[in-house]
Amino acid sequence: MSKRRKKFACGHLGYGRDCHRCEQKQALREEKRQEKNAWQETFSKDPIDLSSLPRNVVLKARQIIYNIQNQTSYTNFRGKRLRHDRFIISIPVTRNYRLICRDYGSFVAPEAVVSHEDYNVCKPGI
Ligand SMILES: [Zn+2]
Repeated sequence: MSKRRKKFACGHLGYGRDCHRCEQKQALREEKRQEKNAWQETFSKDPIDLSSLPRNVVLKARQIIYNIQNQTSYTNFRGKRLRHDRFIISIPVTRNYRLICRDYGSFVAPEAVVSHEDYNVCKPGI
């Protein structure tokens, strides 16, 4: 094995058989891909679909859902019943998103996370 620096096909200079700079880049890309897959996989554990939402909204929504499913009252999260449908509870997640839950009497179940715009369109009169 030659110790002399050589030029790889990619254009980088270096030692050895393969370009370490490109190998590193490839490894980083692979790591990012796995990280993304791991993130995608977490959605399969959610009771409702959160996959189209921004990351911070997903994390906050999960926290609220978890608490509500473990007997914490929605009022702890400033949740309110809708005026025109008392079985629907709206809980603010972030400034722009709300978690919509349905009250089944003995428990409260999450139904969807909606953006502020969607919310105003499909739930008029609140
Ligand atoms: Zn290279």
